[in-house]
Amino acid sequence: MKPPVLYIVVPCYNEQEVLPETSKRLRHLVRELTGQGKIDPASRITLVDDGSKDNTWKIISELCDRHECIEGLKLAHNAGHQNALWAGLMTVKDKADAAVSIDADLQDDVEAIRGFLEEYDKGADVVYGVRSKRETDTAFKRLTAEGFYKFMNFMGADVVYNHADYRLLSQRALQALSQFGEVNLFLRGMVPMLGFKTAKVYYERAERFAGESKYPLKKMLSFALEGVTSFSIKPIRWVFFTGVIFALLGIVMAIYAVISHLAGATVAGWSSIMVSLWIIGGVQLIALGLIGEYVGKTYIETKHRPRFIVEEYKH
Ligand code: UDP
Ligand code: MG
Repeated sequence: MKPPVLYIVVPCYNEQEVLPETSKRLRHLVRELTGQGKIDPASRITLVDDGSKDNTWKIISELCDRHECIEGLKLAHNAGHQNALWAGLMTVKDKADAAVSIDADLQDDVEAIRGFLEEYDKGADVVYGVRSKRETDTAFKRLTAEGFYKFMNFMGADVVYNHADYRLLSQRALQALSQFGEVNLFLRGMVPMLGFKTAKVYYERAERFAGESKYPLKKMLSFALEGVTSFSIKPIRWVFFTGVIFALLGIVMAIYAVISHLAGATVAGWSSIMVSLWIIGGVQLIALGLIGEYVGKTYIETKHRPRFIVEEYKH
């Protein structure tokens, strides 16, 4: 089999401190893999500048001039990690047999790409890079990050545990992904929806090589909220079920109130207020949940997601 044309897509936002080193390591890897006949010489490293305010683009354009295997894509403003990644992947999807996405900060071991390629050769269309441990992260980051995965699964978004956006996608998977019409991207939730044969490659996560995290807690929380609201209408269901529970409690309260009333142990007006309070509250929540169901449906429709993805068509 002909070795695949591999594109390595790297989103970069204010990464002037790490870029020279990152590009060096990736270049070495690409050169080695090409030499070993594991990837096609047309393989490239695509550096995506996500509207950086520092010298990132200057560094990228110099690297492009100097090295044939490096290309650069500059976004006009800071669109965010997911959008920058998307921009890169969609730019290369027709040229690449396979594309790997990796962060610029060298936290993800570039050597794992060898493992990705082995799995790709064995027929996987999606290969997830999974962190084997998080010893280098601070306890706080570890706790919040692990909570993140648990919370996401609990809320109904199907994400791979300890996998961020370090993965390989075959061209087929990229084309399938490009059919997703949504603007709010949460790639970690979208990729598992593709189907196809998947594999996992484990690696140890290192510390950020230089510079600072662009994902403080505040951004991580909004990212989690984005993930939940982009993938699940579970919260709406909860409103509905709370309504049902309240209404049921209302009925119990009604019986209790009637009994208390008959026993004469109540102040005038108490029974009617108690009963209407619970039942009206329950009915209102049920109605809200019901409206929510329709809003949720409309929301899902507006994403224009593909109804199915074809893996093969033999004829
Ligand atoms: N990034 C980006 N746009 C942004 C924020 C981050 O392209 O608005 C890139 C950043 O340059 C890095 C990757 O996304 O390559 C992950 O960011 P970071 O390492 O800061 O996140 P962390 O690993 O701390 O969660
Ligand atoms: Mg990082």
